[in-house]
Amino acid sequence: MSDAVRAGANAGATSLDPDNWDALRADAHRMLDDMLDYIADVRDRPVWQPIPPAVRAGFAEPLPRQGTPLPEVYRRFTEEIAPYATGNVHPGFMGWVHGGGTAVGMLAEMLAAGLNANCGGRDHIGIEVERQIVRWLRELFGFPQTASGVFVTGSSMANFMALLVARTAAVGPQVREGGLPGERLTAYASAAAHGCVVQAADLAGLGRGALRRIPFGKDHRIDIDALKRRIAEDRAAGCQPFLVTGSAGTVDVGAIDDLAALAELCRDEGLWFHVDGAYGSLGMLSDEIAPKLKGLSEADSIALDFHKWGQVNYDAGFLIVRDGEQHRDTFAAPAAYLRRETRGLAGGSPWPCDYGPDLSRGFRALKTWFTLKTFGADRMGAMIAQTCKVARYLEARVEREPQLEMLAPVTLNIVCFRYRAAPNVMDSLNAEIVVDLHESGIAVPSSTTIDGALAIRAAIVNHRTTFADVDKMVDAVLRFGKARVG
Ligand SMILES: *Cc1c(COP(=O)(O)O)cnc(C)c1O
Repeated sequence: MSDAVRAGANAGATSLDPDNWDALRADAHRMLDDMLDYIADVRDRPVWQPIPPAVRAGFAEPLPRQGTPLPEVYRRFTEEIAPYATGNVHPGFMGWVHGGGTAVGMLAEMLAAGLNANCGGRDHIGIEVERQIVRWLRELFGFPQTASGVFVTGSSMANFMALLVARTAAVGPQVREGGLPGERLTAYASAAAHGCVVQAADLAGLGRGALRRIPFGKDHRIDIDALKRRIAEDRAAGCQPFLVTGSAGTVDVGAIDDLAALAELCRDEGLWFHVDGAYGSLGMLSDEIAPKLKGLSEADSIALDFHKWGQVNYDAGFLIVRDGEQHRDTFAAPAAYLRRETRGLAGGSPWPCDYGPDLSRGFRALKTWFTLKTFGADRMGAMIAQTCKVARYLEARVEREPQLEMLAPVTLNIVCFRYRAAPNVMDSLNAEIVVDLHESGIAVPSSTTIDGALAIRAAIVNHRTTFADVDKMVDAVLRFGKARVG
């Protein structure tokens, strides 16, 4: 169709399509080229930089009544948005647990946005691609064909949903109608478990106190004997234990609970065995790391994030449940406007909306499918193993530096260390060094507390991070530490 005809079809209409597709095409190609350069040249820029007050103030303008030409809006993006992003595309980003994303994932996001598919349900290819991811995860985790899965924002949501499934399995689907009057359900996790595991008990109405936080040992793994004792005490006190959450990669230090022992305990006690595998569970892609995750395949459910070690662009959280029927029993609800058919677009039941609280949802499966198809599981596994190698290199460097000391064992890819100083200034000094690093733009580690001591915490999650990048970070720590101590 000629541009004149296309423009004519839209003449005087209220459609948001452009009058001139060729002009939009030129803008689009420029944006794509710029963004590819942004990723390719990421090393030339600071990891992070603070947002200047004038830029921040620019985002407090009133609701625009009139439109602005796209090139002008894009100019603001290049000048006022792109430079002040989180920084996790950069190889110097080692804070928290953030994936680096890929150019392939970015392209897939663009394609998904073009399709603008609503993946809540109905019979279209978006749902089938998501089912492909479920099948791949069943294969990776050794789950049965009856296992179900669904994309969600992240593991915070997936851990919450898993708790709801475990609750429904424990007391029956009538809980969805009548709630939990009189029940005293109790759940269990290591004190090193992520905060969202505690939050899940709160959100579900059980209360944070219903999540028993069990001590962990020197290796940062849950103390199984203490767990057994607490379950017995709770039973004796009239509580109803129903769920144990194991950690496959704790957020502080990357420790992996003894999942096989937890699986056995849950079998013996008749408890739901959930694993918070937010970042660690994709270690199954690597032959080197998979043995550390022994017992994972016995879980009743696993929460995981493709956007961390999987490098899928944000966001791409996932929940997989061994027994798909129990999963559906927790979330599926009849609604006249969601009537299922055996033919036509309203076919293909069950739908993703039967497996979680979201109805409208985007096509997260596409960027995940593109990532796994383009790179393949072996290369993904090698990349994951390499991040652990970089972490071990960093550990060795810290151990060589007399001014530095390690604060926790390195199980996977997280290194916790600190700059040595007088005891009374040790924590504050190390906190200052972390902020100095952020503001320098050289590297972005985060901090955490290990046995009461503030640690500089470097999580090597980004596939771009090399030995040289961690050396640069350590060099800067030594420089800033020395400058502050005087
Ligand atoms: C990141 C993380 C979470 C939370 O996942 P989100 O995707 O950020 O919601 C939970 N547990 C662990 C161990 C994590 O690393």
